[in-house]
Amino acid sequence: MTLDCLCGDIRITVSDRPDFVHACNCTLCAKTGARWSYFHPDQVQVTGSTKGYRRTDKNRPAAEVHSCTNCGATTHFVLTESAIAAHGNTMMGVNMLLAEPADLAGVELRYPDGRNWQGAGEFGYVREAETL
Ligand SMILES: [Zn+2]
Repeated sequence: MTLDCLCGDIRITVSDRPDFVHACNCTLCAKTGARWSYFHPDQVQVTGSTKGYRRTDKNRPAAEVHSCTNCGATTHFVLTESAIAAHGNTMMGVNMLLAEPADLAGVELRYPDGRNWQGAGEFGYVREAETL
């Protein structure tokens, strides 16, 4: 499936539909305006000019969030070097709000309670999952 930012400069192609989308309430997800699905980097192709941002209120941020340099829409995130050193370059996130809704029909929308997650172990959910 293919996703576009607001202005169309960024095109993201993922090789498979996701099993689920996270509508997370943590500060990063809320303030970047993103609903993430997670993929192996080999599954994702991003074209166009994006700008990366790493939050500065964490000593070792795990994610670098990218946005379109033209329209500013949040597009994806990649792992930082420290996260890759710890876990390998095994994951990236794509903002599913950039997808055509019809492309996500039947996918589960989950509501993790990222705001109250302690950084390790299982996280809770704010409410029941929905089907998109
Ligand atoms: Zn754009």
